[in-house]
Amino acid sequence: MVKETDLLGVNPSAGDDEIKKAYRKNALKHHPDKGGDPELFKELTHAYEVLSDGNKRSIYDQAGKEGLEGGAGGMGGMDPQDLFSQLFGGGGGGFFGGGGRPSGPRRGKDLVHRIVVSLEDLYKGKVQKLALSKSVLCKGCDGRGGKKGAVHTCTSCRGQGFKVMFRQLGPMMQQIQQPCNECEGTGEIMNPKDRCKTCNGKKVISERKVLEVHIDKGMKSGQQIKFQGESDQAPGVIPGDVVIVIEEKPHERFQRKGDDLFCEQDIDLLTALAGGEFTIPHLDERALHVTIVPGEIIKPGAMKCISSQGMPSFRHHEMGDLFVRLNVIFPETLGPESFPLLEKALPTRPALPKYDAKIHLDEVTLEEPNDRQRRTANSNGDDMDEDDEDRPGVQCAQQ
Ligand SMILES: [Zn+2]
Ligand SMILES: [Zn+2]
Repeated sequence: MVKETDLLGVNPSAGDDEIKKAYRKNALKHHPDKGGDPELFKELTHAYEVLSDGNKRSIYDQAGKEGLEGGAGGMGGMDPQDLFSQLFGGGGGGFFGGGGRPSGPRRGKDLVHRIVVSLEDLYKGKVQKLALSKSVLCKGCDGRGGKKGAVHTCTSCRGQGFKVMFRQLGPMMQQIQQPCNECEGTGEIMNPKDRCKTCNGKKVISERKVLEVHIDKGMKSGQQIKFQGESDQAPGVIPGDVVIVIEEKPHERFQRKGDDLFCEQDIDLLTALAGGEFTIPHLDERALHVTIVPGEIIKPGAMKCISSQGMPSFRHHEMGDLFVRLNVIFPETLGPESFPLLEKALPTRPALPKYDAKIHLDEVTLEEPNDRQRRTANSNGDDMDEDDEDRPGVQCAQQ
């Protein structure tokens, strides 16, 4: 167990001020906005939360982390971002560039890119190459757009690229902004012959970049992988990050809930009653071989569990479980020669209940419902999907 004080790098007897200072230092360093690991940031914040709250601190000092989690009230579960902003200011949207006037250079936009990842790849982990084209500062002119010393700030607009004009509008003075015509709105003046040939004066060129995206075992939809400063470059701008967002591709056989997997398995009636075997191909190069021991009766829809055959958890790689819903497939027909054998093997049929003499037994027939009746039957029962109409007895394992 990582002790909270170790995590923050303070002495176990550290006072509030020292803890706050240590948290601030760590949080600044590991803040997700600066490309830090969001998990680590969360852990740091959690540690700070524990240590800074006098009440929690005393529980923690006596009983350790477990005492806290099992204890009355439990954790407040505060959003790390909220706590951070609350302590050190800054608006809701992070603290870099948020709130107040930005003092340094402008930060470029992040480039967000979704990648669809198969469950197999999330199970095994994978390095995926991702090619993207991005703007980089032109190497021919070092992002100046022309020869050294040839690019001058436009004196007409003082480099702003636009001019503010005043126009009389009746009794009012209207203020309008117009692009500077001297520099065509660029804010810079250059002799056309000095213009950089590589970028044609644009200062940036488009470049193909291949990123190696490390998809770690156990990652989930929505998780982000950040490449700090890999977004478009522009003169005088700190490039934003390339943010890769994982999107899990639905699997045809497995459904994932957290670190657990769910699947359905058809088994024949004989196996269900008298034992047998089946296999489940897994997400790696394995198939799970399952034996149903004779004597164990599998009922239709029975939910079984195979321990530690679910997904690995993110970072810790602890295995979730695999839940298997067993669909018992009944034979379509049976020959008359098997009836005596079944009568011998199975428990005897229950007798009809004894009715009072005044009850008349009315002979009726069980029929297959027609289309209209089938719709009624389906809408009356649980919310069966239309698609399931032709597969009676098959229930979705999702719900
Ligand atoms: Zn250039
Ligand atoms: Zn100008």
